[in-house]
Parts: sequence; structure tokens; C-alpha cells
Amino acid sequence: MTVPTSPARFDVAVVGAGPAGLAAAFLLARTGFSTALIAPATRPDDVRTTALLGGSVAFFETLGLWKEIAAAGAELAVMRLVDDTGRLIRAPEATFRAAEIGHDSFGVNIVNSALTRILDAHVFGAPRLTRIEAAVESADLGPACAALTLSTGATVTARLAVAADGRKSRLREAAGISTTAWAHPQSALVLNLTHPVPHRFVSTEFHGPHGPYVLVPLPGDRSSVVLIETPDEADRLKDLPDDVLALELERRAHSIFGRFTVEPGRQVWPLSSMIANSHGTRRVALVGEAAHTFPPIGAQGLNLSLRDIASLVEVLADAARAKADIGSEETLRAYEKSRRLDVETRTRGVDVANRALLSDLLPVQAVRSLGFALANTIGPLRRLIMREGLTPSWSTPRLMRGLDIAAV
Ligand SMILES: Cc1cc2nc3c(=O)[nH]c(=O)nc-3n(C[C@H](O)[C@H](O)[C@H](O)COP(=O)(O)OP(=O)(O)OC[C@H]3O[C@@H](n4cnc5c(N)ncnc54)[C@H](O)[C@@H]3O)c2cc1C
Repeated sequence: MTVPTSPARFDVAVVGAGPAGLAAAFLLARTGFSTALIAPATRPDDVRTTALLGGSVAFFETLGLWKEIAAAGAELAVMRLVDDTGRLIRAPEATFRAAEIGHDSFGVNIVNSALTRILDAHVFGAPRLTRIEAAVESADLGPACAALTLSTGATVTARLAVAADGRKSRLREAAGISTTAWAHPQSALVLNLTHPVPHRFVSTEFHGPHGPYVLVPLPGDRSSVVLIETPDEADRLKDLPDDVLALELERRAHSIFGRFTVEPGRQVWPLSSMIANSHGTRRVALVGEAAHTFPPIGAQGLNLSLRDIASLVEVLADAARAKADIGSEETLRAYEKSRRLDVETRTRGVDVANRALLSDLLPVQAVRSLGFALANTIGPLRRLIMREGLTPSWSTPRLMRGLDIAAV
């Protein structure tokens, strides 16, 4: 950790050390930018897991971190979607196999605290990267640089500030970037558990009337649970004794993995969606949940954030090569242009999938069931859904196409 004497100057200051901020700072420094990573110490208690898919694998391979991340997670070879709504019109079961698109797996599921621990360890001591343990209290966003005042009283200046400070981003607010936000009548209960029957690297998603209940493989005979329910029901489940909750979860999973034992640590996340109306202005670029949030359906959140980061670094590298200002409005417009369609389509797509599941309207159920049936029976459509679900072909940053960092 470094406590700077003010003012410390950098090319880029990344604010926030969640998975998005850690990955952004590491990549920026590796690309050649002098980088400050400013955030309080990383919290070790996030029991959520992240399924890193497709382009995210290439992202971490390019950074030389993939082997370590893969070793701490479990591969996802098959995804099963089961309609458990009990409604009049039910969708047929849909199964997606990575082998069908020529892969051993779609990616790897890893506990967030393990992912941030690995990233944190590589951030410490990385060339051109200074980790500053502090919160940003205020930002003075001038024409030539962003000046950030920290909780330590120090000031950090940078040509560009990257807001990776989460959904309530203070930096986004300082830059005057408005958002479009809407709530969902749901919360996600998150925990991890062990079971006697092996998962065989199959992720199983039961679609209930209030949202999906997903069991995603973890190393060994363990799975992570994301159960989307009404807020009251999620809170009720969270407060149950371990053995009662384990039985309830086993019942909802139709005992596919036998008897559950829940591990310590449960979290309830109220669900909401938000899209920032710009990805950057006034020397601030948004990445991760500072730029977009949506319900954890289809494991898209952090995968989308890593595409923000790869695109931003690509735009900054282009600007630096052209000897242009990396924090200028022109550079930030290029970043905005590179991200708008991907972020809008993923956020709205997850919203539509969620609403279709919640809807009691028969025509909506019929269309949803038809979609599942078509995906099941038409091989090319199924393979297209799988490929585009991993990384959109029309919005793949160079870094995620396996290019070396020097070529980014
Ligand atoms: C239940 C659930 C399940 C999910 N599952 C998946 C999944 O399977 N796959 C997937 O891709 N995504 C998933 N997501 C989404 C994913 O977890 C998030 O996108 C990701 O954790 C957010 O990362 P972030 O770094 O953008 O933000 P955060 O993790 O919120 O990090 C924000 C950081 O900013 C810091 N900070 C805040 N304010 C300041 C300040 N003023 N100064 C300095 N630092 C500050 C905080 O301390 C923190 O370090 C899931 C989300 C939920 C809710």
C-alpha cells in the first residue's frame, strides 16, 4: 500500500477495487499506463460466485492469470434450463452443451472472494501500478486533469479517472452522468452448499414463478446457489436454521444432488437494473456496476464489465498511439460508442427474459415456451444462442480475440 504525498500524478486513476476495478487497473498498467488503484481494502466476505464465460477467459489468458483462476473454480460444461413454474403452458427442458460449439467448457465458476484475492495478489507489486487504500471523497474534474481528494486528505491527479466504484458510484455523480434505473419485485438469496451426488460440471437452472433458482458447479461436490424470489420470501429463507434451509433448497432442486449441507455465509441482494446514460465525460470513464446493473440471470454482469474494460483500454491505447489526450471528450466519445449497443442489449435482454418468466399472461408463456422448444430442436439456433451468450460476435474487443497486449 502507498500513502501518496500530494499531489501524486498518474495517467489513470481507477477508483474501486471490486473485480472490475482490480482487473481494469491491472490491464491498464500492463498496457503501459501509470495507474493508481484507489479503494478501501477489498472485502473478503463476498460469497457470490461469478461464471466467467467466453471472452472473459481470453481476457484473463492474455493477462496470464487464467490458469490460477481456473484452478480455483469449476468448469461449466453443460447448462440445463428446467421450467418449474407449474403453469398451464410450460417450456420444455433446454440443454446447452459446450462440446456442441467445440469447447470443453463455457467457462469457469469461481467464488468472488477467491477471484478478488487472486487479482489483489497480482495488483500488489505490479509495475506502473500503485495501490492506494483510501476512499475518494470528492473529485475536481477540470479541463486538463481529474483531481481526486482521498479520505486520507491526499490528492491524486490523473488524465483520466476510471469509475469502478460500484452501483452507487460517487465518481459518476461527480461527472454529472445521469442514469436510467428501475427496480424489480425480487431479491436474490446467495449461498454455497455441498452435496453427495457429483454435479458433473452441469449448471442447473430451475425457472420458478418468481425467478430462476440456479445451482452452479464449484470445485469438489459443491455448488453455488442463486435463488431469485420475492423480497419477503428471500428474507424468510435467509433467516432459516441451516438444516431447515438445506431441506427447503433440496426440495426445490427435486433432490438432483441428494442431501444439501449449506456452508456459512448467506447474502440477500435486492434486484434492480440501471444503465448510465453516458459511459464517460469530464475525464471520467465508467466501467462495471458503475455503468450498468441488472438481475443475475444468464451470468452476464461481470462478463459485460470485462468487455467495458477491454474496450476502454483499446480506445486509450489507440489515443496514446495517436499522441492524443486519453481523457479528452473525443476519447471518451469513442469509448461510449464502443459500449452502448452491447450494454443496452444485455441489460434490456436480461430484463425481457426476467419479465417473460414473471408474466402470468398465457400469450407470453406461449412465446417463451416456443422459444425454448425452438432452441431445443434447431441445432444452428441453439449454437448461435450459445456463442452469442458467451461473447457478442459484433462487439468483441481485440483483447478478447486472443491478441497480445502489445497489439491492443
Ligand atoms: C446475486 C448476484 C449474482 C451474480 N452473479 C454473476 C455471475 O454469475 N456472472 C457475472 O458475470 N456477474 C454476476 N453478478 C454481477 C457481479 O457480481 C458484479 O458485476 C460485480 O461483482 C460488480 O463488480 P464491480 O467491481 O463493478 O463493483 P463492486 O464489486 O460493487 O465494487 C465496487 C468497489 O468500489 C469501492 N468504492 C465504492 N465507493 C468508493 C469510493 N468513494 N472511493 C473508493 N472506492 C470506492 C468499493 O469499496 C468496492 O471495492 C452477480 C451479481 C449478483 C447481485
